[in-house]
Formats: sequence, C-alpha cells, structure tokens
Amino acid sequence: QSSRSVTVIGLGPMGQAMAAAYLGRGYRVTLWNRTPSRADALVRAGATLAASPQQALAASDVTVLSLTDLDAMYAILEPAKAALAGRTLVNLSSDTPEKARAGARWVTELGGTHLTGGVLCPPPLIGTAEVSAFYSGPREAYDTHRDALEVITGKTDYRGEDPGLAALMYQLNMAIFWPSMIAYWQTVALAGAHGLTATDIAPYVTENFAGMGHFVDFYASRIDAGNHEGDVDRTAMGLASMDHVVHTAADAGTDTAFPEAVRDIFRRVVEAGHGSDSFSRAVELLKKR
Ligand code: NDP
Repeated sequence: QSSRSVTVIGLGPMGQAMAAAYLGRGYRVTLWNRTPSRADALVRAGATLAASPQQALAASDVTVLSLTDLDAMYAILEPAKAALAGRTLVNLSSDTPEKARAGARWVTELGGTHLTGGVLCPPPLIGTAEVSAFYSGPREAYDTHRDALEVITGKTDYRGEDPGLAALMYQLNMAIFWPSMIAYWQTVALAGAHGLTATDIAPYVTENFAGMGHFVDFYASRIDAGNHEGDVDRTAMGLASMDHVVHTAADAGTDTAFPEAVRDIFRRVVEAGHGSDSFSRAVELLKKR
C-alpha cells in the first residue's frame, strides 16, 4: 500500500471537503458513507467507494472518521470491528471528552490506534494552510501521520496523550461559538423588526466581535487571581443593561428566551449579594451546576 492513501468514512460537508483535499494532494482515497450517493462527485473526481466499512478500513492504514457523533462511529464500525486491528483511526467526529475516551478505549482494545481530532474551521477552509485542528492520543501516531493530518488543516495542535483533550478543546470552542452565533441571529431578528437587514448591521457586528478579545485579555488574569472587583463594571449595571435588551426585544415582538436566560445569570449573581462586583463574578456562579 502506498503511504499516500487514506480512507474517509462519513461524507457530510466536512468529510466531503476532507476527501476532496486528499484527492487534491494526490492521495489514493477510499470512501464509505451510510448514504452512498454522497460519494458520487468524489468518485467522479477519482476516489473509490468501498462496498462496506470493512473494505473501507482494509483499503488504507489511516481512516479519517467525520461523523455527527461517536454513536455513529459504533453504528458503522461495530459490524466491521475485526478490521480495526492494526489500523489508525483519526476520529474527527465531535462528542464529549468522556465519549472520546471511551471510543479510544474501544478501538485500542480491538487492536487499532485512535487519534482524537477537533476541527473548528468550516468546510470551505478545509485543506487550507492557515487553519488548525486539535489532536490528542498516542504521540507516536500523531508524529507518524502528521503529514496526512496537515492535509486536512495546514496546522495541527497536539494537546497530549489523553484522547479526551482534543475533544475538550473542541467543546470549549463550541461553548463560545454556538451561543455567540445565536446572539448574532437574535440581533439580526431584532434589527429586522426595525427594518435593518443583516447586511446593514454586518459592519457593527464584526466590530463588536473583534472587540471581544479586549475583554478576554482584560479579565483572564483577574479571574485567575480571583479578582472580581467592580472597578470598571458592576453586575448590577449588567443586570439593568440586559433588562433593557430583553425589553427592547419584547417591544419589537421578537423572541426573548435567549436574552432572558442571560439576564437570569446576572440576576442570580446580584441575588447572591454580588451586585457591586464585576460581572466576571458570574464565573464563580457558573462553576457549579
Ligand atoms: P454531518 O452531521 O452533516 O455529517 C454526518 C455524517 O455522519 C454523514 O456522513 C452521516 O451519514 C453520518 N452519520 C450520522 N449518523 C449516522 C449513523 N447513525 N450511522 C451512520 N452514519 C451516520 O456533519 P458534518 O460533515 O457537518 O460534520 C462532521 C463532524 O465535523 C461533526 O462532528 C461536526 O460537529 C464537525 N464539524 C462540522 C463543521 C461544519 O461546519 N459542518 C465545522 C467543524 C466541525 P449520512 O450521509 O448517511 O447521513
């Protein structure tokens, strides 16, 4: 087998982009997907569609998994598990750190090698130089397959042996990404109720997001030092401000569930007696379920 061969299992938008990137670099690419038609364009471009997950695993030393979650991995590979021995799985299916660890154990016990990955970039950026992905699992496997991994994202960030670490880094980023984007959709809806389009407000939204780095830089060391002094902002002010957001949304007839949930966090901090502290005090509240 050529070392420049790879199997991709899972052909959602991400898996398709990854397979295309490998084809573009001259890899021999084998595919498998539950819905076979998703492979059509890639097969026309030179990839081979395997008849079964077993055949897909057998075709390459390295198999990239790009699935919705780890349950999908078991659904596909449980019937093919005998073919895992001696193979390396690069698992880019997102899930919790605990599920990633269990998945790695399952693969390892079957004689395979499991690298967990976390890719943050959207499909159009797959295969480009500037984007990076997290990896964790056996260092040796990462070193051996680094060239192949860096076809998917030009840069890689190896986090350590624990297979949960790459999943953790991915989840930490998603915990920011999804709520931030919902905040954005909320803002688009509110602007729309006032006749402003998404395009109209785009420059302001971009500027707002770009400014977030300032807050992270300012608060990080203070939070780590346990300093929630209300010298530049007070939670009571945050509560009043968030209340204005809720009412601006309500007055416009738009949904208020998300701003109300945010307001509720401010309210709980104030009710715990920390209204004069910085809104970073919420970190302490959020540490416990
Ligand atoms: P999709 O959820 O669209 O892709 C899902 C793939 O998983 C498809 O191949 C689907 O098969 C397969 N699948 C799901 N459930 C099962 C099952 N029970 N049995 C067999 N196959 C199953 O995901 P994306 O391609 O968008 O993303 C893949 C991974 O990458 C996800 O974990 C996602 O969180 C992550 N990611 C996605 C990004 C994006 O912008 N799309 C960006 C960064 C990361 P079928 O085609 O038959 O439905």
